[in-house]
Amino acid sequence: MVSMVLKVLKNLLKRPFTSEYPKKKSKVSINFRGVIHIDQKKCISCKLCEVNCPTGAIIVDPKKKYAVVDRSLCILCGLCAEVCPVKVIWFSNDYEIAEKKKKHYKKQLPGANPVKK
Ligand code: SF4
Ligand code: SF4
Repeated sequence: MVSMVLKVLKNLLKRPFTSEYPKKKSKVSINFRGVIHIDQKKCISCKLCEVNCPTGAIIVDPKKKYAVVDRSLCILCGLCAEVCPVKVIWFSNDYEIAEKKKKHYKKQLPGANPVKK
């Protein structure tokens, strides 16, 4: 009983274990996969991402001739980025990936990787 009271008192003096989200955002690791982006201008339409995607989330648009992703199907496994020969698929650090409407997950997030390895 005494040890429990001591533990409670000790914990009362410590800072909280939880962070004050959303006021304070957590840091993520270097290899964190947040939002998927495709630099569509540099896509060579090879379809390697499409054939390797386990959920069918990414396809090469036959008219536009570049890869497009449905983020509602994407499980952020990173396989597409691994097999892409020109490394135009990348993931940002953003972990706030919820959209209000399902159709918004089809919106493409293009752009070159700002920290291309
Ligand atoms: S990260 Fe995985 S699930 Fe998402 S598009 Fe790429 S291969 Fe498909
Ligand atoms: S693997 Fe890369 S280059 Fe090939 S279609 Fe997919 S995004 Fe384009």
